[in-house]
Amino acid sequence: MADMIVVGAGAAGLVAAITAARTGQKVLLLEQNSKIGKKILVSGNGKCNIDNKYIALHRFHGENPDFIDAILKGYDFDVVEKFFTSIGLELIEGKEGKMFPMSLQASSVVEMLEYEAKRAGVQILCDCGVTSLSKEGDTFTLETSQGIKRCKKLLLASGSPAAPQLGGSNSGYAFATKMGHSLIPRHPSLVQLCSDETWVKACAGVKVSGVAQLYANGEYITEKKGDLLFTNYGISGLAILDLSREVSTRLANYDYCELNLDLMPELSKEKLTNLLLGRIKEGSEKPIEIWLHGVINKKLISIILEQSKCKAKQENDLNRKEIGKLVYAIKNLKLSINDTKGFKGAEVATGGVNTTEINPQTMESKLVPNLYFAGEILDVDGDRGGFNFHFAWISGLRIGNNL
Ligand SMILES: Cc1cc2nc3c(=O)[nH]c(=O)nc-3n(C[C@H](O)[C@H](O)[C@H](O)COP(=O)(O)OP(=O)(O)OC[C@H]3O[C@@H](n4cnc5c(N)ncnc54)[C@H](O)[C@@H]3O)c2cc1C
Repeated sequence: MADMIVVGAGAAGLVAAITAARTGQKVLLLEQNSKIGKKILVSGNGKCNIDNKYIALHRFHGENPDFIDAILKGYDFDVVEKFFTSIGLELIEGKEGKMFPMSLQASSVVEMLEYEAKRAGVQILCDCGVTSLSKEGDTFTLETSQGIKRCKKLLLASGSPAAPQLGGSNSGYAFATKMGHSLIPRHPSLVQLCSDETWVKACAGVKVSGVAQLYANGEYITEKKGDLLFTNYGISGLAILDLSREVSTRLANYDYCELNLDLMPELSKEKLTNLLLGRIKEGSEKPIEIWLHGVINKKLISIILEQSKCKAKQENDLNRKEIGKLVYAIKNLKLSINDTKGFKGAEVATGGVNTTEINPQTMESKLVPNLYFAGEILDVDGDRGGFNFHFAWISGLRIGNNL
């Protein structure tokens, strides 16, 4: 019988298994997929944004910030870097503190982790899905697709339902509730947003560097700057992914969500007004659509004209009032949001196992002795930029380091 079974060979499970095995524990790592670390492999567009140099509490979210604060204390980026150096993986810095493996290949992260796990004596079983869990006395019994497994210490590192195509699953939550734990509602995050407005389809493929403001039930909530990518289902892009956590939770609350898009944030209202006024040539009969094409993507013109209610048909119809309407529409394009692309499109899930029931020093359950949790199964999610992996690595490290 193994001393410890780890369910899930993702980021958290792999690091926990390695650090536990280094303390002399006999560790069995169970993975339902045919390969370990599938999410790591696709992360950061195949380059793996492994962590972020600038770890700060406000980059992480959950119902219990005190838990996150306690977990982060003493476990900043340096600790993660030290771990990866110990397995022979060098890191380099990209923009905004984002860290990557020096090879710029996510596969190197998985291969180095796998090599170290095996070297430390971890037994890895792939194609081994855990289907049920029980505890009698001090022994955990797991039914798996490869038979019954028993252990004295159990780590649930089975992640969240985000990206089911890569192994995202709810199963860990079922095991946690069976052991008496409570859950915080899960919602997709870092996810694309859907709209049933027809005009976005016509703009599919258009990408601008803008600002998206979120309004819920007419009230301003927050805003994010970055790429806005119109798609045939709605909108994506980095600014949208960054906003999606807030949208997802609001939609689950049946709030009406609308985005206010500034398509030209680099130009103030006054600068844009002056630029457009300065372009008007007296007597010109140039159709307004062609005139606007000189400053804005062609696919966006008809929606700007529609939302602005601009009455001008040609260049010489334009005046300060009509220009004012156009400027307003360019800097306040409205897009209602009716859904997200769900867990299938999401990089992470909000919510999860209630962290008030977990000891942040050891990651052990306060309810069930020798039951541990690590990674995204917990009610902690991070911003884009390496913060989700940071939490997975350090929660895994805390377990091994405290055994
Ligand atoms: C497309 C994509 C890109 C991403 N890019 C980044 C990035 O660049 N930087 C970043 O910080 N974060 C990124 N993330 C988020 C990051 O991948 C996750 O936050 C992180 O992988 C969570 O680690 P984890 O170990 O908790 O869960 P996971 O990595 O999901 O691992 C859980 C494992 O448990 C297995 N499992 C589940 N149920 C069972 C069961 N019943 N029996 C056996 N095994 C089971 C799953 O198959 C899975 O392999 C990305 C996510 C996605 C989907």
